Amino acid sequence: MIVARAPGRVNLIGEHTDYNAGFVLPVAIDREVHLYAQPRSDHRCVLYSEVLDDQIEFDLRSIPPAEALPEGWIRYVAGVAQMLTQHTGRTLTGIEGVVSSTLPLGAGLSSSAALESACAVLWNMLDDLRLPPATLALLCQQAEWHYAGVHCGIMDQFACLLSQPGSALFLDTRTLFTETIPLPREWVIVVADTGKPRTLAESGYNARRAECEQAVRELQSILGEEVSALRDVSPEQASLYLPLVSEPARARARHVIGENARVLAFLETLRGGNREGVRALMLASHRSLRDDYAVSCPELDAMVEACLAAPGCVGARLTGAGFGGACVALVEREQVDAFIQQVDLDYRARSEYEPQFLICEAVGGASVSPVS
Ligand code: ADP
Ligand code: MG
Repeated sequence: MIVARAPGRVNLIGEHTDYNAGFVLPVAIDREVHLYAQPRSDHRCVLYSEVLDDQIEFDLRSIPPAEALPEGWIRYVAGVAQMLTQHTGRTLTGIEGVVSSTLPLGAGLSSSAALESACAVLWNMLDDLRLPPATLALLCQQAEWHYAGVHCGIMDQFACLLSQPGSALFLDTRTLFTETIPLPREWVIVVADTGKPRTLAESGYNARRAECEQAVRELQSILGEEVSALRDVSPEQASLYLPLVSEPARARARHVIGENARVLAFLETLRGGNREGVRALMLASHRSLRDDYAVSCPELDAMVEACLAAPGCVGARLTGAGFGGACVALVEREQVDAFIQQVDLDYRARSEYEPQFLICEAVGGASVSPVS
């Protein structure tokens, strides 16, 4: 029997930058998908999900196309199998097993990438495919695009597969350059869920993408073809040329260009152990998401304010697409209980929703090992 484990992730800074070819800084967290499996001789994949109390089954010699599959988690597993098969030209070994999870589904912590990555590292070992984690990440992303029908960025799969313990993962989403950024051991990561469902998230997300494309088109007409994404616009160019861009594209672009610069500054503040710098940059990110990108909501703002006022808080901001969902806070390990107690009280006084807190450690990327 072997077990593949794959972590969820939370993004520390660099929000809405990934589809603008920019920078992100996710961290893999100790909430994980575990896939326990043993090989079968008949090339069938038979898996049971404990969380969903559901079994899936398909043939690895003729993996059904996405359209032939029902909606649901089979699409992630079959998608990964299909991408690995296409990439290597091999027929994968059959497996029988159980998926268990300490990672909440659909909570913005990327359980989908964790499920994909667990499957990818499992077959990578079982079939001795020898694919590096970055290749697995790209294949998992393809699975999510073509089988789950979710046109996601590359951050989740990279965070899930390439992270190192105790560290965040800097990722340049254009070049796929990565760098491991150690986090101070005295800090823990707190994911503070507002309890507010992300109702407007999908339409809001699509609107923001379109507004960013609009900003690129307008900036291209001034700066030429070397601007193919907001990534290509420097803060200096932004202060000169953004006033010429129409609203709301201007404000959206201001967020993205500023946020990319904040990610790079954040790396420096972490390297220098500069606590105040971390706090200031996370707050600037939150305000920019609230005021320029318009993806916050009263609950996220209340949660960030509550976090910043609580003992031991290094920094806090909304994380993920926004419109509800969670904040991420960096908190002094020794004060984390007092921190949560106060934030919980404070937030409840300001909101009708039920908050939830996860204390997380930064863990390494997906891995696979034998179990007895
Ligand atoms: P997120 O990635 O933010 O958690 P998604 O909607 O992208 O949310 O992915 C959630 C989907 O991933 C679930 O609906 C399910 O299909 C699949 N999934 C995640 N974890 C599991 C699990 N433990 N068992 C079965 N399916 C899972
Ligand atoms: Mg997902």
